[in-house]
Amino acid sequence: MGIRIDENACHGCLKLPEARCVTACPGDLIGIRSDNRKAFMRVQADCWDCYACVKMCPVSAVEVVLPHSIAAGDAHLFPKMKRESVRWTLTTPDGRTETFDAPTRVPEEQLEE
Ligand code: SF4
Ligand code: SF4
Repeated sequence: MGIRIDENACHGCLKLPEARCVTACPGDLIGIRSDNRKAFMRVQADCWDCYACVKMCPVSAVEVVLPHSIAAGDAHLFPKMKRESVRWTLTTPDGRTETFDAPTRVPEEQLEE
């Protein structure tokens, strides 16, 4: 399925020595553009859908790319990091939303309000 990075939402993790999504990816598949400090996907085909990068982004700039068979077009799945859980919000093509909560493993000091 892979991921999609919203460059408008990405702030490049400017306060950190290395971007969270870059640090999180076990395959070193995410880079940071030198000209605007925005994250980009290097090799989409090598992504194995662990979603560590999706869950680590503090501004929900990394989206899960849903397959057409599930999303049937324009559906979106975003996580929102909370203190003790990740709240996944699925928006269906007709605008309905569903939420799912899963426990988080992100250290509390790394979360932003
Ligand atoms: S989903 Fe996993 S493998 Fe794919 S880019 Fe994100 S961290 Fe890397
Ligand atoms: S973790 Fe999010 S905000 Fe930080 S560089 Fe990656 S996509 Fe951008």
